[in-house]
Amino acid sequence: MAECIFCKIVKGEIPSFKVYEDELVYAFLDIGPINFGHTLVIPKEHHESSATIPEETAGRMFRIGARIGVALKRELDFEAFNLHLADGTAAGQVVMHAHLHVIPRGVEDGFHW
Ligand code: ADP
Repeated sequence: MAECIFCKIVKGEIPSFKVYEDELVYAFLDIGPINFGHTLVIPKEHHESSATIPEETAGRMFRIGARIGVALKRELDFEAFNLHLADGTAAGQVVMHAHLHVIPRGVEDGFHW
């Protein structure tokens, strides 16, 4: 099986615009952003589902996602942000390496969940 695209990003085999990295998680700009600054936070270890991510890593993903959201609001002048995770194909997951979307939002941005 071909290796996961997000695992290749973690290893630097596919280029990405890094936003944050530590020993557990990696964050980078989404290649098809919904809004300027749209960022993905992923576990460095491969997990298809959020349900198998170890507690410390899952907690780090959420904490870093929220901190990036706050930074995007402050630096890019957004009003709010979404943290979104699609778990499973029927939920909209396309890349099968669990990832948390951080999406900056403004009242005029014209899309709704
Ligand atoms: P959806 O495409 O419905 O949002 P996912 O929740 O699985 O499904 O999100 C996958 C995300 O990964 C998409 O937002 C897509 O733009 C992004 N993506 C895919 N390949 C890359 C890449 N090489 N670098 C950065 N982002 C990527």
